[in-house]
Amino acid sequence: MSEIRPWRTIVRRQSRQIMVGSVPVGGDAPITVQTMTNTPTEDAVATIDQIRRCEDAGADLIRVSCPDVASTAALGKIVKASRIPIIADIHFHYKRALEAADAGAACLRINPGNIGSADRVAEVVRAAKANGCAIRIGVNGGSLERHLLEKYGEPCPEALVESALDHIKLLQDHDFHEYKVAVKASDVFLAVSAYMGLAEAVDCPLHLGITEAGGLIGGTVKSAIGIGNLLWAGIGDTLRVSLSAEPEEEVRVGFEILKSLGLRTRGVRVVSCPSCARQGFDVIRTVEALEARLQHIKTPISLSVLGCVVNGPGEARETDIGLTGGGNGKHMVYLSGVTDHTVQSEEMLDHIVALVEAKAAEMEAAADAAAAAKVGEPAE
Ligand code: SF4
Repeated sequence: MSEIRPWRTIVRRQSRQIMVGSVPVGGDAPITVQTMTNTPTEDAVATIDQIRRCEDAGADLIRVSCPDVASTAALGKIVKASRIPIIADIHFHYKRALEAADAGAACLRINPGNIGSADRVAEVVRAAKANGCAIRIGVNGGSLERHLLEKYGEPCPEALVESALDHIKLLQDHDFHEYKVAVKASDVFLAVSAYMGLAEAVDCPLHLGITEAGGLIGGTVKSAIGIGNLLWAGIGDTLRVSLSAEPEEEVRVGFEILKSLGLRTRGVRVVSCPSCARQGFDVIRTVEALEARLQHIKTPISLSVLGCVVNGPGEARETDIGLTGGGNGKHMVYLSGVTDHTVQSEEMLDHIVALVEAKAAEMEAAADAAAAAKVGEPAE
């Protein structure tokens, strides 16, 4: 329902596009959402199960830790089963990077400056090139190189950017350009300043994140402020929300951040009131139930759930489906912004779920028909 108005527009920084498997990152590609598995990687079955849940939540990319040979040995099976590209997370052990590249990882998360000799860097780059792997450099405020800490005295934006540029140079020296970079910190000011500095200095895609952000609520707020500020400034091509929560929650929060800024659409966007004594039904419980029951919807649909007529009609006018609380257990349903019919409290949940599912099916059919018509059009 909502149109893009000039004051809603975000002008994205023009980054160079790379491919992570089949997924473009950077340039005009959609900003991708990624997360990371937390199952033991050698347990391929458990890891694939978790990847499925993340795929269903909408993850575009997924990172898998590869700390040992058992992990990279399981990676081939995981890569084959996954519907989204796998990023192998490597720290220090360059041989794990070689194994992961051979196992079909679409990207290696590795800092070339941390793996030892120039020969090892050359070997990793050779393996990445041979297997069509991208590389993600991940600078972290908590593990900055000693010489940078000595130079700057403490983790600061300049130190993070310098570390990133040093790692980048090692890849460029080997004529490798399929990389993206993160300069994460758990401090929002530090991370945002570092990303802003890096965005000025390089043209590669940037992977956003506020690292070790915290639990579901605290970490979501912190990430929304940090990542949200950067996205608002046009910076960022892919993101991970780092939460002490299940990976699929990270994906949901990532999409909510992007949806809030109009940068991605996915599933039901719920507009709901905090509720008060005027509510005609239990808004909080209703929204909880609707969010749970509508998670399977992927088509972008807006739904307003307001407890009474104070703000209900106004919000309903801006959404695909609207519900506004009325008196005597009878509530108004709006379709495409217009009052349509009423529903009783006891039928309300099932009714709204059915309306959203029907609207999603209608929109999907229209999209399919438009795509089919386009295929049938004569070539210009
Ligand atoms: S929409 Fe109505 S019920 Fe909801 S918070 Fe506002 S006044 Fe209260």
